[in-house]
Amino acid sequence: MAVWSLLGLIGLCLVFLAFLFFTAVSLREKERRAAAHSGMIAASLGTGLLVLILLPTPIRDVILIMFLIVITMAAAYVMISHRPRSSLVVSGTPERIDERDIVFARFDLQEGSPQYAAYYARMQEYQAVDTEIRKLPDILSSSHLIKEPALFSLADAEFELLEHLLVTVDGPVRPIREERSAEENTRMVKEVVHYLGADLCGVCELDPAFVYSHVGRGPEPYGMEIDLNHAFAVVFAVHMDFSMIASAPKAPVIVETAKQYLAAARIATVTAGMIRRLGFPARAHMAGSNYAAVVPPLAWKAGLGELGRIGILLTEKFGPRVRLGLVTTNLPLNVDQQVVFGVQDFCERCNKCSDNCPSNAIPEGERQLYNGTERWVIDREACYRYWRKAGTDCARCIFVCPYSKPDTLLHNAVRWAASRSSRAQTLAVRADDFFYGRHPKPHAPPFSR
Ligand code: SF4
Ligand code: SF4
Repeated sequence: MAVWSLLGLIGLCLVFLAFLFFTAVSLREKERRAAAHSGMIAASLGTGLLVLILLPTPIRDVILIMFLIVITMAAAYVMISHRPRSSLVVSGTPERIDERDIVFARFDLQEGSPQYAAYYARMQEYQAVDTEIRKLPDILSSSHLIKEPALFSLADAEFELLEHLLVTVDGPVRPIREERSAEENTRMVKEVVHYLGADLCGVCELDPAFVYSHVGRGPEPYGMEIDLNHAFAVVFAVHMDFSMIASAPKAPVIVETAKQYLAAARIATVTAGMIRRLGFPARAHMAGSNYAAVVPPLAWKAGLGELGRIGILLTEKFGPRVRLGLVTTNLPLNVDQQVVFGVQDFCERCNKCSDNCPSNAIPEGERQLYNGTERWVIDREACYRYWRKAGTDCARCIFVCPYSKPDTLLHNAVRWAASRSSRAQTLAVRADDFFYGRHPKPHAPPFSR
């Protein structure tokens, strides 16, 4: 009896300390609602502990043993359930995407130019919606800049530097090759990419289906057919600062996006340059843009994460709070396996991004077959229309996603449990709503303007 009640007391103290810890973490993360809710639970547990001490021993023992039974059964109920294992379903070979059709390429077209006329003569289905969106002020345009001069100017300056880097993606290949095994090359490239600042890195074969068919943006001639026959894709991710993304859709998000795109561009350019000096062709791909390939599906193939309801890649450690970078090359490399950590099942239960999207661009329902893959497809035009209204790249969906929480012991424990148990996923969705709110408030910008 005494042993069991002692175990019950230890369990109660641990739960009390866990909520105290959660309260402290939430205060540090400026999550006032989570701090208030967990603080109240911690205070109730602390009061319960004090009351227990005052109770006569037999009653205290019974209560502690009952607590031990309840808490053990609850933990077992949550964790002993089937592991969420649904993965993306690929039902065919996707068709190559023409980069001229992506939203950013369409809005780079200058009204009245021959390219503009030729494009909308060929793709009339976009003309009405694009004309309507063009009436809105552009992202980072002067009408937005007036509202947030310092931060929008900072983002603009970051993107300007990115534009200058677009011509650095390729170069001459040294005629003498440094021959090493694929294993050695893979280890070396991944170490370099991490050393240069990436948080995650993986390798896959460069599936030609994910190479754009024609140039739509960047320094290469508009409309040029893309002939990229590299064998491998080195895909990496850099995480975005949570405190910047937490102010979504305000100006800090676009400052952080541009900063991490710059980081990814630097990593890709230096890595590709190093590989070329080792005697193998290599090309960096960067936002801004001179992508010759579609990065999210390659990141999925390279084992960096899964595509979620939000329409972009969710990584296990940072969720969608990342920017991706890419180097394609013929350097012999070993490829990684795709990962499944329960995103498809979690997204089916969650829907938080969809509920919080100010433009209703994220679907609530089931996945649909889209270009060879069963996935959620977002309404890109609706999303982009909102970007022009906000003057930023919004990122509200990235902020509210439970997977985006900071890389700390507490949040990593939740992500770990959610990848192993369906019931833990359900609990994580409910707990996220309870502690952070179904519609979380944006945080104040993390630095003065
Ligand atoms: S970025 Fe904003 S508008 Fe676009 S899908 Fe996400 S929440 Fe919606
Ligand atoms: S907010 Fe929820 S539904 Fe949306 S991507 Fe994140 S986990 Fe999936």
